[in-house]
Amino acid sequence: MHFPAFDDFYQRIVFLLPFVANFRSNEFDYKAPERWQDKYPQCGGSDQSPIAISRRKVISLNLPPLVFGLYDELFDDLVTMTNNGHTVEFKVPSTIYGVRPYVTGGLLQDCYDVEAVHFHWGSPQSKGSEHILNGRRYDLEMHIVHRNTKYLTLDEAQNYSDGITVLAVLFKIVRTSPTFYQPGLNEVFSSLLHLGNFNSSYTVQERFTLGSLLGNLDRGNFFTYKGSLTTPPCSPVVQWHVFGEVLPISHQELPKFWQLRDARGLPLQKNFRPLQSQENRLIFYRQAFVPLQQEQLQELIWL
Ligand SMILES: [Zn+2]
Repeated sequence: MHFPAFDDFYQRIVFLLPFVANFRSNEFDYKAPERWQDKYPQCGGSDQSPIAISRRKVISLNLPPLVFGLYDELFDDLVTMTNNGHTVEFKVPSTIYGVRPYVTGGLLQDCYDVEAVHFHWGSPQSKGSEHILNGRRYDLEMHIVHRNTKYLTLDEAQNYSDGITVLAVLFKIVRTSPTFYQPGLNEVFSSLLHLGNFNSSYTVQERFTLGSLLGNLDRGNFFTYKGSLTTPPCSPVVQWHVFGEVLPISHQELPKFWQLRDARGLPLQKNFRPLQSQENRLIFYRQAFVPLQQEQLQELIWL
């Protein structure tokens, strides 16, 4: 017995399966990032991230500040962190006002709703931030990923040059425990102990705000440039904002990242992409206006 329609359907499924499986597992690893472009051509294209940022080679601009909408309002739901084999991440819930935090201002023409937060780190032997700042690689980098509200999903936004903006925060290991951490960072770092294995997840029992992940960071100083996602498919659709101030992370918290494991049960370490060429891209720097103190004003008057 022969069923042409069924055969055709069956053949299509067999043909499509490898692509579906690939898409599902988003297969890539950090052993050979130069091979990413074999499967994801944009990874070999232009406007790629991360890059090295040097204070001496940027253009200082009198930009308006970034606006952090609802960043300091409590989430209306608990946050669930997941080890996805490449990083730990969480989808950001909406705030008690029913909508998610958003960012606008600076060079951004539109409003960008936050989607998710994840991290990049090194190993006991090496530092692991993605961006290099003034010649230094730092210990940890946090990415807060936002989608242009013109687009409905992150997948859709990846198709447009103004689709995504990411806020990047660099962390430097310190000997003493920083005492000024806000609840969000404490909760995120504590939850790492529950995320050791691939696909494990953990629901943080305290509610917090997105802004509390920024600790006491000076939100007014940042570098901004046009780049890409730093993982496949490396879509060149990201307006990056890398904060100039570096946050501390204690020597008790950072090793928790090194103890996570990937899908093959191996240590999930050094999940940062190598530096990409800046090409002819410009990097802009915004430095907050610092009001002069009374004494400084007096000095100026007497000069
Ligand atoms: Zn990232």
